Amino acid sequence: MLPGLPDVAELQLLFAQYNWMYFAGEIPSYRIAYNARFSNSAGRITYKPPVIELSPKHLVGKLDELRETLLHEMIHAWLHARKQSPGHTPTFKKKMRELGLRSIYHDLGRATPLNESTKRYIVRCEKCTMELLRKKKPSPNLVCARCRKPLVAFEVVEMRPVELSRAARGRR
Ligand SMILES: [Zn+2]
Ligand SMILES: [Zn+2]
Repeated sequence: MLPGLPDVAELQLLFAQYNWMYFAGEIPSYRIAYNARFSNSAGRITYKPPVIELSPKHLVGKLDELRETLLHEMIHAWLHARKQSPGHTPTFKKKMRELGLRSIYHDLGRATPLNESTKRYIVRCEKCTMELLRKKKPSPNLVCARCRKPLVAFEVVEMRPVELSRAARGRR
């Protein structure tokens, strides 16, 4: 791992601490991981399977932004766990303010603004980490064109673009 970044065990610990500090332990366990392939996102959450991914490229040496990105994704996870809409609802924004977070909006790359009720999917090859974004539920029988391994589908995706992190820094 790059210097200036917590290792994955530390991220997992941070997640557990924040869960108790800010969410009364209501978030079920999530795997926290780095994903070096994000080109314009600082973070991403998928609810099924439960994974929060952070971009090492965008967060290296920026512990405040790493913390904010993790907390942002954790608010999504918290709302999802409470069976509330996990989008950027008034409840989401209220929680953000409580935690002192600033930037709000993110969507999937440069696609149309995120419709809170729209599900998105990612299919991913666990061997070569190739990923495809899908708007419709992917067929369960897809295989990686390169590895011929079955692709794993992730449901409901939220991404946090880097631009907003920069804007947040400017306002500091
Ligand atoms: Zn969000
Ligand atoms: Zn593959």
